Amino acid sequence: MTASTDVMYRLLVQGVTDYAIFMLDPDGIVVNWNTGAERAKQFTGDEMIGRHFACLYRPEDRAAGLPEAGLRQARETGRFEVEGWRIRRDGTWFWAEIVIDAIRDEDGGLIGFAKITRDRSDRRTQELQLVEAKEIAERHRDGLAATTSFLDSVIATMPSSVVVQDAATGLIRLANRHAELLLCGCTGQLVGRPAELVLPTAVAALLKTALAAAGQPAATAGQPAATAGQPAAAEAGEPAAITQELPVPTAWGLRTLRMRALAIGGHGEQPLHGLLIAEDVSEERAASMRIHHLAHYDGLTGLPNRELFRQRLGEALAAAASGSGTAGTAVLCIDLDDFKRINDTLGHPVGDQMLRALVRRLREVLRPGDCLARLNGDKFAVVAPLLATQAEEEAEALAERLIAAAREPIEVEGQRIETGLSVGIALAPADADSGEGLLRCGDLALYEAKRRGRGRFLRYHDAFATAARYRRLIEADLRGAIARRELRLHYQPIVRAQDGETIGYEALLRWQHPVRGPISPLDFIPIAEETGLIHEIGAFVLHEACREASRWASGRSVAVNLSPAQFRSPALAAQVASALAASGLQAGRLELEITESVLLDASANNLALLEQMKQLGARIALDDFGTGYSSLSYLCAFRFDKIKIDRSFVREICDSREALAVVRAITGLSRSLRIATTAEGVETPEQAACLRREGCTQLQGYLYGKPMPPAALPEVRGGKTAREETVREETGREAVHCRS
Ligand code: C2E
Ligand code: CA
Ligand code: CA
Repeated sequence: MTASTDVMYRLLVQGVTDYAIFMLDPDGIVVNWNTGAERAKQFTGDEMIGRHFACLYRPEDRAAGLPEAGLRQARETGRFEVEGWRIRRDGTWFWAEIVIDAIRDEDGGLIGFAKITRDRSDRRTQELQLVEAKEIAERHRDGLAATTSFLDSVIATMPSSVVVQDAATGLIRLANRHAELLLCGCTGQLVGRPAELVLPTAVAALLKTALAAAGQPAATAGQPAATAGQPAAAEAGEPAAITQELPVPTAWGLRTLRMRALAIGGHGEQPLHGLLIAEDVSEERAASMRIHHLAHYDGLTGLPNRELFRQRLGEALAAAASGSGTAGTAVLCIDLDDFKRINDTLGHPVGDQMLRALVRRLREVLRPGDCLARLNGDKFAVVAPLLATQAEEEAEALAERLIAAAREPIEVEGQRIETGLSVGIALAPADADSGEGLLRCGDLALYEAKRRGRGRFLRYHDAFATAARYRRLIEADLRGAIARRELRLHYQPIVRAQDGETIGYEALLRWQHPVRGPISPLDFIPIAEETGLIHEIGAFVLHEACREASRWASGRSVAVNLSPAQFRSPALAAQVASALAASGLQAGRLELEITESVLLDASANNLALLEQMKQLGARIALDDFGTGYSSLSYLCAFRFDKIKIDRSFVREICDSREALAVVRAITGLSRSLRIATTAEGVETPEQAACLRREGCTQLQGYLYGKPMPPAALPEVRGGKTAREETVREETGREAVHCRS
């Protein structure tokens, strides 16, 4: 290198400002320092020239021998390149790109080194930012992937069917396994195919509606996608989900699907996707229908139950009130006659079959719109919408048809069962305008219809409500009547037909009500039977009658009436035994009067009870014979000691050939069976004469004496007549009264 080139070179190097260039001698001492180096290191050339370049390194790099290592490599290989942090004079750092070149003369002798340092802090910062961004991106990518796979597994295992349709192409983007199995029966049949072709019509239509609602009609497969120029969603914001539940043909047959469809994505503008979530609710629906059916229908007959009946009644009343066609509503309360007897004698399975057969028949006579319901046991009801003009006639015609339908014997397992219906009719708005009120009126009419004899219908009348109130009052008072000693027994003589000699008395209950006066047993005995009070009252009658008769020195007998209701208590025979034991009355002096209905009801049990009472030594009489069923078979079923011919025949015996014929038949039968007969209600000597002629053995009636209090009986007690004893009792009471 010549001196001039050396100067030029020096000037050139000095002028370079982007690079810090400095020359070192072979030992590393700075011999030259350019402007770039001054800028980079903030030392002037004067300050640096003559110093070892290692002073520019960080102490830890110096300690690690970095400067020497650089020189060594440059010396050995000709060049050393490195990048790293370097320090400036003011202590700040910069990222340096460093090249150290060994400089040799023509003979290869080492002259020194040229060290070129470049500040690459900007690039380094960018690089670091990039790395950081990359790291962040990678971190996010991992998180995103985790989230995606998590969502994928959630969607895949969701117990619902999920289908996503691309709004633009109409193709299915996603379908979970559940959806594929439900809709196709296998996987891989939905994704990538046009929704309209592969989804059931109803499902595809719902997706389409959801997309349309969000402003973007789903593209039909093959058509160009909707473009941005088309009308946007009607309103910004979340598009509402459309919910639908309907039967859909699936791979598993027709299933009820509850579906929700909504448009998603697209940031409130045109949606990107249609999302459908469907659940198979067939079992749920079936179960709730079963529950609904159980809650509203009677299991035996399949008829609506009381609950549904109330609903139907409410609907009929509302329809009539709104004037939509019907003008009124009828409620027909229906009670099956003798159902208990049928159940008891033929068994419940036969009773059930009979009910089903009967219901089939009743349904046939209903008009369209009539609703027949089973309220409980053998109680039914019909709610019938009525036309304006002949409301009452319509309802009565229906009742007649129902009664006629039930009258025909029903064949069950080869047995012909005779039954019948009683019907109570109530009309809205004439009788009541509420459902409750109508049912109440219908029930009252039914009660009255049954009381007047079965197999008939009766329209409600206000008097029935009054009677029912009266019954309730009586019921309330009857409960305390025994304790208050308001119930007493009167005794009616029964005489021998031959000579008119009194042979016994029938005990008949009397209720002297403190306010209402005397109340007939015909009024209060049925109430006692309905309420179960009859057991207490019956026990009282048995004890009282036996106690009274035991005091009669004449040894005459006493007859006690037993209600069929008393036979529901298996303790009846024990009650009789206890009355006999307590009074000391000879069993042979006690006669028990029962009616046929005792034999109608649960014959097996009742017959056993009758047998037990007969075993005690009491006699059993069949009361009111000739009324009711009067089946001769009862006379064979049980060995009665006596038949009492009902008052209705006795009353007519002189004027009616039929009455006479019945009496003659009964007395004839009794003679053959060697049973005594008592004619009841004998009021005239002519009747008595006629009955005597017919061979009746005993007579009872006003002709021989009305029922009277015990004190009025011509009976001697302990040497005194009853009358004498009463006078004594009364005087004694008065004496007590005077003393107090
Ligand atoms: P029943 O057992 O047929 O009693 C005969 C009824 O006929 C009695 O009516 C009696 O007073 C009435 N009678 C008797 N002779 C004549 C007559 O010549 N002419 C008329 N017109 N009537 C006559 P009563 O006392 O009103 O009893 C009515 C029914 O009440 C009885 O009919 C019986 O079924 C029932 N009853 C009465 N007392 C009792 C009782 O202690 N227990 C039960 N379970 N029922 C009773
Ligand atoms: Ca009687
Ligand atoms: Ca009688």
